Amino acid sequence: MAHQKHGAEPMTTHALVLFSGGQDSTVCLAWALARFDHVETVGFDYGQRHRIELSARYEVLSRIGAIEPAWVGRIGRDHVLALPELAAISDTALTRDAEIVMTQAGLPSTFVPGRNVIFFTYAAAIAYRRGIDTLVGGMCETDYSGYPDCRNATLVSLGESLSLAMDRRFDIATPLMVLDKAATWALAEQLGGAALIELIVEHTHTCYLGERSTRHPWGYGCGTCPACGLRAKGYEKWRSGKN
Ligand code: ZN
Repeated sequence: MAHQKHGAEPMTTHALVLFSGGQDSTVCLAWALARFDHVETVGFDYGQRHRIELSARYEVLSRIGAIEPAWVGRIGRDHVLALPELAAISDTALTRDAEIVMTQAGLPSTFVPGRNVIFFTYAAAIAYRRGIDTLVGGMCETDYSGYPDCRNATLVSLGESLSLAMDRRFDIATPLMVLDKAATWALAEQLGGAALIELIVEHTHTCYLGERSTRHPWGYGCGTCPACGLRAKGYEKWRSGKN
């Protein structure tokens, strides 16, 4: 069986977006809504420290259809899977024999290894049931090069494996793979104009600390954690590039 569709036009018009309620997956959702006739979403509840991530999903999903008239009718079912075992695997108790270090993105090494493989495998199982063959994820190897499961080679290989495992072709689309954060803001503006920028600033969540008491030009967050730092730096670079 062939798997030659990566990066090419989809044969079907249905997509399933891995959607966390963050900036990157929101841009991916807009990207999919601009291209596919029918777009479903999937999120994973694994006891995130900040359930604000899950509430951000609903805020974005309830508003993004208003940005472009054509998008409203394209938004399909939202799936939320509870995966509490992921929290157990990420527990620091499991890492007592391993050195706990900070990765380049500032996450501890206790972060679930290979998490995106798990997410895409569940997503593919849902997509199989729903007759969807394109899976969309916001992985990026530009800003998060420390994560091997965000690399393009990993995800191309995973698409092959899932296609073999389910005897159905799955295409994993990663529209942000080679973009930096400034380019991601630019893509958002290109897809949904000022309204999508405003939606991202106001309703998406990125901060590792779950802080939402301070609103910066780039959105809510503590302003100092690595996730806030990347988001702020990208926003400033994008804004300065426009002037
Ligand atoms: Zn933060």
